[in-house]
Amino acid sequence: MRLEGKTALITGAAAGIGRETALLFAAEGAAVVVVDVNDVGGEETAEMVKSDGGRAVYVHADVSSADESENMIRVAEESFGRLDILFNNAGIMDSADGDAVDTADDVWERTLAINLKGVFLGCKYGIPALRRAGGGSIINTASFVALMGAATPQIAYTASKGGVLAMTRELAIVHARENIRVNALCPGPLRTELLMNFLDTDEKKNRRLVHVPMGRFGEAKEMAKAALYLASDDSSYVTGSEFVVDGGITAAYVTPE
Ligand code: NAD
Repeated sequence: MRLEGKTALITGAAAGIGRETALLFAAEGAAVVVVDVNDVGGEETAEMVKSDGGRAVYVHADVSSADESENMIRVAEESFGRLDILFNNAGIMDSADGDAVDTADDVWERTLAINLKGVFLGCKYGIPALRRAGGGSIINTASFVALMGAATPQIAYTASKGGVLAMTRELAIVHARENIRVNALCPGPLRTELLMNFLDTDEKKNRRLVHVPMGRFGEAKEMAKAALYLASDDSSYVTGSEFVVDGGITAAYVTPE
């Protein structure tokens, strides 16, 4: 087991990447702290882990709230005695997020608060806990749109993910000598609710798929496996990376028919 004896906190773990990661990390021996604002889904993830024989606790926390972020870290240490892995994964893609002209202020504010400030707050309260454990691994979910321009405009989302990537680099350098590794996971387009709700017609889905050399959306499980590598000691010399798991999008100039 690759995460035996470790405690992992995963935000946005009521669904999608977060849920699959919680299940995989627990199967690899980690105690898992499931964090979300969706209490029904979050409790369900924790129950799924437990019914598979793993250890999990659910904590309600809106990652854009300083108090709630501080509390989720406190619950992690109180429940399992330590924190070794912090997966800042919660994120939103607002259906009203569009181009710079059309996007309303409140869509911008909310997206940046959850997707970017949420990662900052996770680190602000999580890093002291990782220090107390003697080090650890932080994984921040960015996106391929942090690396390449998207044809479908989503200005607030794109800006938030660019910020996550830049912040990840700085965090990695600043904390490198504390045995804390910090990497960004950059998924391509996935078949999770987040993107399927945004690309809500076949035309929009197909328009996105044109750019994917593999010709399909990725699966949350495939991101969980990448997160496992970054979380475990298998990646002990990897920090500050843009870990791209995107079906080949960022490598492509022209995609095959
Ligand atoms: P998802 O919608 O299936 O899951 C996201 C989870 O985050 C949900 O359970 C939601 O309730 C939770 N959440 C939302 N706001 C929150 C808040 N304020 N506090 C705590 N939890 C909150 O989406 P997913 O596809 O699993 O996305 C996970 C991450 O991956 C996000 O950061 C997303 O931006 C990123 N990502 C997704 C794709 C994709 O195509 N789906 C691509 C690149 C990056």
